[in-house]
Amino acid sequence: MKKTLLILAVTLTAFAAYAQETSLRVVASIKPIHSVAAALMEGVGAPSLLITGATNPHDYQIRPSDAESLQNADVLFWVGPDLEGKSIEAIARSARIVTLVPDEDGHDGHGHDEHDEHGHDEHGHGHDEHGGENPDLHLWLDPHRVEEVVAVMLDALVQTDPDNASTYRANGKALLERLHLLDENLRERIERLESGRSYVVFHDAYASFEDRYGLRSAGALLSGDPHGHEHSPSAHRLTELRELLLETSTDIGCVFIEPAFDPASAKVLTEGTDVKLVVLDPLGTDIPAGADAYFLMMENLAASFEECFATP
Ligand SMILES: [Zn+2]
Repeated sequence: MKKTLLILAVTLTAFAAYAQETSLRVVASIKPIHSVAAALMEGVGAPSLLITGATNPHDYQIRPSDAESLQNADVLFWVGPDLEGKSIEAIARSARIVTLVPDEDGHDGHGHDEHDEHGHDEHGHGHDEHGGENPDLHLWLDPHRVEEVVAVMLDALVQTDPDNASTYRANGKALLERLHLLDENLRERIERLESGRSYVVFHDAYASFEDRYGLRSAGALLSGDPHGHEHSPSAHRLTELRELLLETSTDIGCVFIEPAFDPASAKVLTEGTDVKLVVLDPLGTDIPAGADAYFLMMENLAASFEECFATP
C-alpha cells in the first residue's frame, strides 16, 4: 500500500513538472518581439506574428486576417503607437496589452476605458530616461534593453497563464543568459572594426545599437522624421549626403540599405564612388520567425557592419 502511494506521488510530481500546452493566444507585432515571446513560450505554445515579410512596421496596415487574430488575442506584445500605429491596440480589445514604448504623452494612443475588465496596460520601462528626448522605437536593437523587455513580457505571461509560470520563468532565465552572451559577442565583433570609419544609414533606426556598441553614423537618408512616413529622401538631403561621400576626409565605408525601402536613392548616392551598398536589416526579414530569429538578426547586423567597414 505504501509503495503504491509512493509511486502515485512520484507520478504526480513528474506530471506537474511537465508544462501544459497553453490555450493562451499571444500575438506579437514584429519579428524581433515575436522571437522573444516564442522563446518565453517554448514548451507551452507559440505566439503568432502580426507584421510579416518586408512590411515596414512604420506604415503597417491591418489586414482582415490580422484583425481577427487581434480580436481573439489574450495577450498583445507590441512596441507602441508611434511604431506600428494606433489602430492595432484598439482592435485587440480583450487582450492584455504590453506596450514597450508608450507615445510621448505616456499614453498608448487610446483611452484605457476602451478595454474590458480583462484589459490591462503594462508599460515597459520609462521613455524619458534620456532626458526627455524622443524614445528610440527600435529598442530591440540593444540586447541589454531586451533584458528589460523579457522581464515585462514574462510578467504578463505569468499573470495571464499562471499554470505555466514555472516554464515561463525557466525560459526567461535561459533567454537572459543567451542575451548576455549575444551582447558580449556583438561587443567583441564591433570592437574589432577599424576605428575612424563611418557609414550612412537608410532610416534613423539604430540609435540603440549605436549607443550600446559605440558606433556613430554620418547621417541618414531619411532625416528629420525618424518615426514618420517619409519613404524617399528629399533632393536636398541627397545632395547633402552626396557631398559628404565625395569629401575625401570622411572615411565612409558604406551606405546601408534596408529591405523595407527602395534602394534607388541609395544607389544614386554612391554612383561613381567607392562607397559600398550593404544591406542592414533591423527586422530579420528573411529569417524564419521563432525563438532563434532575434539572435540571427542581431548576428546579421554585426556581419553587415563588418562588411561595411572592411577595407577592399
Ligand atoms: Zn524604423
